Amino acid sequence: MIPAAFDYIVPDSLEAAAASLAEAGDNAKVMAGGHSLLPMMKLRLAQPGVVIDLKRLDSLRRIQVDGGTLRIGALVTHHQVETSSEVNENCALLAKVAGSIGDPQVRNRGTIGGSVVHADPAADWPAALLAAGAEVTLTSSGGSRSVAAADFFLGPLTSAIEANEILTGVSVPVAAAGTRATYRKVKQKASGFAIVGIAVCLRTDGDTCTDIGIGITGLAGTPFRATAVEDQLRGTALSADNITAAAAGVADGVDALDDIHASGEFRAHLARLNTARAIQDALGS
Ligand SMILES: Cc1cc2nc3c(=O)[nH]c(=O)nc-3n(C[C@H](O)[C@H](O)[C@H](O)COP(=O)(O)OP(=O)(O)OC[C@H]3O[C@@H](n4cnc5c(N)ncnc54)[C@H](O)[C@@H]3O)c2cc1C
Repeated sequence: MIPAAFDYIVPDSLEAAAASLAEAGDNAKVMAGGHSLLPMMKLRLAQPGVVIDLKRLDSLRRIQVDGGTLRIGALVTHHQVETSSEVNENCALLAKVAGSIGDPQVRNRGTIGGSVVHADPAADWPAALLAAGAEVTLTSSGGSRSVAAADFFLGPLTSAIEANEILTGVSVPVAAAGTRATYRKVKQKASGFAIVGIAVCLRTDGDTCTDIGIGITGLAGTPFRATAVEDQLRGTALSADNITAAAAGVADGVDALDDIHASGEFRAHLARLNTARAIQDALGS
């Protein structure tokens, strides 16, 4: 349980962090709260020769509203998201998801950026970021680029970030007036990670669904947006029958995860049931 030897760098600026990362290449790991990285190093599943600790980069701890966009810095903790007035007023879904993560210690130490880059298939953030149409910003010594959440998660513990990039923040469109949203999770009892987690954002005109985003985590190795369910509901009345019928297809064609926590068949069942319930919950919110 002791990590392999490594060099430890604590840069004072984003530019210095990016330069250190460019120099060390694949041999380096960036550290945020260390909540996933340090256990991986202790188990020797990760053996970076260099750890670049971002803790002095206060510019990555900000939450701000910039026109129609809510921007959350990579080092913002889950607790800060949960309790932020900017988040609660502009995209309450994110606050709800943050409050469902782990326990108080995890929420006070774990960061949105670390969780997103770690890309655990049972993590909560991906569902919310997919449903809300988020983008992440990735910065290297060569510049910055934005990647839609829908293109970022590529597989278990695998994302579109390159070895020389630092995730600097997450952006979501400010929720339009009348948006209703919720997050529903069946969780592992010990850790709080999702066996399945379903985030829903929707708008209606009367009973008719005018827009809907559904993000699913836990069900498959890669979190995904349930576009077939969304397409079936957009433009229709959100009656109980229509919701149940659309949600019944959420696991179609999905290679459901099968592990010690739940069989693939049970996960698919939970996803169908809880997608319908999440849409109903959002309607009642
Ligand atoms: C007991 C326990 C319970 C948990 N329960 C839940 C839960 O219920 N739901 C849930 O979603 N999560 C849960 N987590 C995970 C937690 O939410 C952390 O956010 C997650 O472990 C990432 O930790 P971190 O932010 O400290 O990042 P770190 O551990 O520091 O880093 C994680 C990975 O991301 C990389 N990285 C970190 N920041 C950046 C960056 N800005 N740019 C580029 N790469 C970066 C690191 O190199 C590393 O590969 C739990 C964790 C623990 C320990």
